[in-house]
Amino acid sequence: SMALTACGSDDSDSGSDSGSSSDSSSSEGSGKIGVILPDTESSVRWESADRPALEAAFDEAGVDYDIQNAEGDAERMTQIADTMIGNGVTVLAIVNLDSESGAAIQEKAKSQGVATIDYDRLTLGGSAEYYVSFDNTVVGELQGQGLADCLGDKKANIVYLNGSPTDNNATLFAEGAHSVLDEISNYTVVGEQAVPDWDNEEAATIFQQLYTAADGKVDGVLAANDGLGGAAISILEGNGQAGKVPVTGQDATVEGLQNVLAGTQCMTVYKSATQEAGALADAAIALVNGEEAETTGTTEDTEGGREVPSILLEPQAITKDNVGDVIDDGGQKAEDVCTGK
Ligand code: BGC
Repeated sequence: SMALTACGSDDSDSGSDSGSSSDSSSSEGSGKIGVILPDTESSVRWESADRPALEAAFDEAGVDYDIQNAEGDAERMTQIADTMIGNGVTVLAIVNLDSESGAAIQEKAKSQGVATIDYDRLTLGGSAEYYVSFDNTVVGELQGQGLADCLGDKKANIVYLNGSPTDNNATLFAEGAHSVLDEISNYTVVGEQAVPDWDNEEAATIFQQLYTAADGKVDGVLAANDGLGGAAISILEGNGQAGKVPVTGQDATVEGLQNVLAGTQCMTVYKSATQEAGALADAAIALVNGEEAETTGTTEDTEGGREVPSILLEPQAITKDNVGDVIDDGGQKAEDVCTGK
């Protein structure tokens, strides 16, 4: 991959190669696939990365699809699901807003003969045929290791800004990060809080409170995604500490990558939307055709007491040194990241 710095050259706009679905039997089934994305506020990824990647994967496979966004409202997601089922989708994929509403949607779908897939977030107590995501414990481990690499061995006070308490991924991210950072005896957790709905504004308020409670003695911030990281950075900036206190992130958003390049963010985690959308398309098309999808293993649903057949992909840590990898892979465009801010 590209050895130049991410914003140092202009020849890096090629990336649209990697392997999504090319199921030769996909034209047999005449199913329609419905996808419901969660919101537009918790991360820009859903509309800016996932939607176009899903459209490309379904278009390439030649299947009919309908992609909607629940705008952070679980009732709205339920209504969209009802409408999609009424319109004859054969497979319904959701990114749940909480496991309870997700499980109810899946139960109803099942009763109407519609198969469901958990996209990115596992629905605890749900009935999805497949779970398509990244290894989210590894995401948390990469964040923990990334923060440790930025902090070094010195004594350090760490604040955790975790994701939504209703998102099973947020639990896994925090577990993964703790598994790394708790092993380092020089580190002390001086504050830790989950951010409802991953709300970035609330994250800034929460971080300000944790920062004040710690008397400003915060040396590192484990923020679960780029939006939460950006909120922490804005508060650190107000205290003259941005760039001095490493902050983690996730999603390799334009803002996150710019912060990494600017040195105010220590790292982010890249999860290729092309890969994830391609895996969803493959699983959905298998269901449409009455076939079994290729899985990488199973994931335990701790509430439902079952093992969910899963396709889990590999996340990648991104620091200043390899921002170019995201651009090479088509995850962002150089012209968007390299705006000079
Ligand atoms: C996703 C993250 C995302 C977060 C907020 C999580 O479930 O895995 O990529 O940043 O939700 O939308």
